[in-house]
Amino acid sequence: MHQPLMTTAIGPLGNNHIVTIKDVQSGLGCNCSCADCGTPLVAKKGEKKAHHFAHAPNIETAQNCEWSPETDIHLMAKYIIAKDKKVLLPIGTIEPILRWFELDSVVLETREGTRIPDVIAICEGEKLLIEIAVTHYCDKQKISELKAQKLNCIEIAIDTYLLPEDGLVTEDWARNVLEDASSKWLSLFCSGVFGVLCHRADAEKLMAIKSEYIGIKPSIDSLRIQKRELSAHVFQIEKKIETLSSESAEIQQRNKNAREKYHKLRAEIHAGQDVINMIKNHSAVIDQKQQDAWRELDHWKRNALNEINLKAENERAAIVREREAFSQEVAIANHKMYEREAKLRQADSMLKEAEEKLSAANLRGKELDSRTTRIEALEAELENTISSRANEVAQTRYNALCYEKDSYLKRLLRQIDEAKKDGQEAKRKYSSFSYKAQKLKL
Ligand SMILES: [Zn+2]
Repeated sequence: MHQPLMTTAIGPLGNNHIVTIKDVQSGLGCNCSCADCGTPLVAKKGEKKAHHFAHAPNIETAQNCEWSPETDIHLMAKYIIAKDKKVLLPIGTIEPILRWFELDSVVLETREGTRIPDVIAICEGEKLLIEIAVTHYCDKQKISELKAQKLNCIEIAIDTYLLPEDGLVTEDWARNVLEDASSKWLSLFCSGVFGVLCHRADAEKLMAIKSEYIGIKPSIDSLRIQKRELSAHVFQIEKKIETLSSESAEIQQRNKNAREKYHKLRAEIHAGQDVINMIKNHSAVIDQKQQDAWRELDHWKRNALNEINLKAENERAAIVREREAFSQEVAIANHKMYEREAKLRQADSMLKEAEEKLSAANLRGKELDSRTTRIEALEAELENTISSRANEVAQTRYNALCYEKDSYLKRLLRQIDEAKKDGQEAKRKYSSFSYKAQKLKL
C-alpha cells in the first residue's frame, strides 16, 4: 500500500470550512491548516506525486501531529455531506429501509448544547445531527444527552478497511463509502418527521411480523413439542455421551498404555534386531572361520595322509630291502654253514683218516715194538757184534720217529678241535638267523 497522503484540510475560513487539494492553489498560499494539529499546510501539486497537503516546514506544532488517513476520511465525509447536501437515512429500527433525504442547510463543527456534532443539518424542516464514526463511536453519556434534548441524531459508521489502495482519499471514493456505510439512529424525536416515519415503519413491520407469527404459530407450537421431545432425547444422548465419555477416557487410557507398551516393545524389537544382526554377523564370521578351519583340516589331512603314505611306502621299501639283505645274509650264512659243514665233514674224514693213520701208526708202533723186541733180541744176539753205537743210532732213530709221529698227531687233534669249534659257532649263528627269519615271516 502507498504512503497515505493528506488530501483534505481546514480552509482559510476556519473550522467549518473544509477544502480538498483540488480546491486550492499550490504552495503555502493555499492558506490551509492541518485538521489535527492546526499547523499551516503547503499544497503540493507537482507532477511526480499525487497532489496532497504537507505540513509547512520548521513549525513546532507539527511535531505533536497525530494526523492519520482516518482524519482525512472523517473530514472528507463531512465535506461531501456539506457539498452534496443529501443524506441516506434508515427509516425504522426493525429491518430499516434506507432513503435519501435532501438537506435544506448544513453547518459543520458548530456547538450544539454541550457538544460539537460533526454536522448540523436542517432536513424536512427539522434539525438533524450527523455523527461520522471512523474510529470513535458515540458513548452512552452523549446518547443519553441527545435523547434528553429530544434531538434527531444519526451515526454513520465508516469502516477503515475501505481505505483506498493508493492511500489517496478522493471525493468519489468518499461518496461511495458513504452510500455503503451502515447508519443507525442514536436519538430520535418521536413526534418529529423522522420519529413518525420510523414509528409507522416499525408498526407496519410489527404488524407483518405478527401476522406472520400467527401464520406460523401452529408450526412453532409443534416445534416446541418437538423441542421438548428433542430435549428429552438430547438429555438421554447427553447421558449416553457421559457414559461413552467415561468409556472413551478408559479406552484412551488403555490406548495410551497399549501405545506405551507398543513403543516399549518396538524399542525391544529394535534392540533384539540389533542383537540378531550382531549374531548374524558373528555367525557369518564363525561360518567363514569354520570353512577356513575345514579347508585347513582337509589340507592338513591330505598332507598327513601323503606323509603317512610316503612313510609307509618308505618303510615298506626299507623292510623289503632289509628282508632282501637278510635273505642275502641268510643265504650267506647258509652258504657259510654249508662250507663249515663241508669243512666239518672234511675234518671228520681227516680225523677218521688220522685215526686210521694213528691206528696204523699204533699198529706200526706195535710192529715196531715187536721189531724192537726182535731188534733187542737181535741186539742181544748181535751184542757182541754190534757196538753200543749201533744201539745208540737205533735208539735215536726211534726217538726221532716217535717225536715226528707224535707232533703230527697233535696237529691233527688241534685241527679237529678248531673244526668242532667252527661247527658249533656256525650252528649258533644259524639258530639265531632262523629265529629272525621266523619272526619276519610272522
Ligand atoms: Zn497536523
